[in-house]
Amino acid sequence: MPRGKAYPRISYRDPDWLRRRAIHLKRFPWCRYCQQQGRNVKATHVDHILPHRGNAALFEDDSNLQSLCRICANTVKQVEEITGGELGCDLLGNPRSASHPWSGGSPDPPKYTSQTIGRMLRERKQKDD
Ligand SMILES: [Zn+2]
Repeated sequence: MPRGKAYPRISYRDPDWLRRRAIHLKRFPWCRYCQQQGRNVKATHVDHILPHRGNAALFEDDSNLQSLCRICANTVKQVEEITGGELGCDLLGNPRSASHPWSGGSPDPPKYTSQTIGRMLRERKQKDD
């Protein structure tokens, strides 16, 4: 990232973020995704629903936060960000993808295979390290 960027540096070590995070986890202690599947799992992560990608307004918007467990934060959410949320099903078993044949979509082959998602997750992890 070049110096002189247009937005303030966002840090997960910032005391203000740590305070907001703690307040959110106290208010919403259960993983939101697990709850949608009918399970109560203690949340450990506070996630930005819309990825902020350096956007301070999205980063600082408390309505853009959700509590997630470690597994959902590190797998389900990551896959959602890569695929645009097209994988999996809701609590009733209905596909979340609008392009799924059950949703009236075309029977085109899936855009993402477990191999492509695995590769994209590895690339993303390498970029974050
Ligand atoms: Zn979870």
